[in-house]
Amino acid sequence: MLDSSMAEGLVDVKGAGVCAIDAHSVYIHIPFCVRKCAYCDFLSFPNCVSRIDEYVEALCQEISLAPKLWGNEIKPLLRTIYFGGGTPSLLSGKQVAEILLALKSGFDLSEDCEITLEANPGTIDAQKLCAFYDAGINRISLGIQSLDDSVLRTLGRIHDADTARKAIDIVQEVGFRNVSCDMMLGIPGQTLENVKATVGELLERGIPHVSLYSLILEEGTPMYARYGGDIEKYVTQEADREMYHEVIRSLTAKGYTHYEISNMARAGYESRHNMMYWRAEQYYGFGVGAHYYLGQERGRHAETLEEYLAALGETNVRREDVYFPEETLTREDCMKEFMILGFRMGSGVDARMFQERFGMTVESAFAKELEQEQAKGLVVAEEGAYRLTEKGFDLANQVFMDYV
Ligand code: SF4
Repeated sequence: MLDSSMAEGLVDVKGAGVCAIDAHSVYIHIPFCVRKCAYCDFLSFPNCVSRIDEYVEALCQEISLAPKLWGNEIKPLLRTIYFGGGTPSLLSGKQVAEILLALKSGFDLSEDCEITLEANPGTIDAQKLCAFYDAGINRISLGIQSLDDSVLRTLGRIHDADTARKAIDIVQEVGFRNVSCDMMLGIPGQTLENVKATVGELLERGIPHVSLYSLILEEGTPMYARYGGDIEKYVTQEADREMYHEVIRSLTAKGYTHYEISNMARAGYESRHNMMYWRAEQYYGFGVGAHYYLGQERGRHAETLEEYLAALGETNVRREDVYFPEETLTREDCMKEFMILGFRMGSGVDARMFQERFGMTVESAFAKELEQEQAKGLVVAEEGAYRLTEKGFDLANQVFMDYV
């Protein structure tokens, strides 16, 4: 339990200097899709592909202005860049190159900067992938979801299983080694056999990173209208968990590490960008709806194209025209978030990192919580870290609630 002096909206996280912007990552939102998938409530606009050019222009303008708007005196150094969506693979190679050029004008990129682009298998060909590669993209995250046609139809994806297989082939033939595939679980009609077959193929094809998502029915989506509150009739919680454990088992047996609740990777292929989120580090966000976390400020961008384009079209763009703060984090917020996010990782909450960031030990900040979690067998202390046990991973929400 934190004492009250720590909880009073302190403005300085570490003692001095942490309020300063210390971000080495960038998230870029590309909000366009060919059409809406049946389960999707992400911020993405179908049938607007004709507007990509003007969007990229505004995005480059925002990126070029960012260091000045945030008062950076020297060029910030970037270690990870992530193009997410939406469907970033709807961009052309030239547009991706333009965005990266804008980044290089205001930021320094580390020599080994991880640059990921999310790709929908239904939107890529070898020529486009080569152009992405030449532009500097070095990691592709493919939204495969499943290699079963009936499951893909239920999800309303624009691609079938063969298109997804071909996409993997193209990505690898072009020369991308750092490739991730998304798999979705808990879908009505999906069986354990479907899941085994998909993960088996991903293994055969040498995909080094797999992200797992359980279907969440969001109100307002076609799948919600179809399955609504009755989802348990089609797929039970137990079935969903069984699928999850099957994937974890299959990949662990082949040497993958379960390095985060929903992510498995071969050594060296962990997503460095996502690790940045789980270490509760700051990041720049660019584009419609993109979130950002800079200094102690967390916020987002306008969620409509019109608002975003209008803000960037001004002659004298001010920070408040583009960035909408939502939250000012207190020291207590930061500590709790560090715990929750840290527990998501297989390596757990790094005690040394906690002390470096907050100037106190994790044991002194959360003695009671850690003691109880260990007594319940949910958390174990090991090699300078506190991490979830196998039981803890299954009951992770119970642990997270201790820090809410
Ligand atoms: S491709 Fe992704 S962002 Fe686009 S509609 Fe489908 S789930 Fe949503």
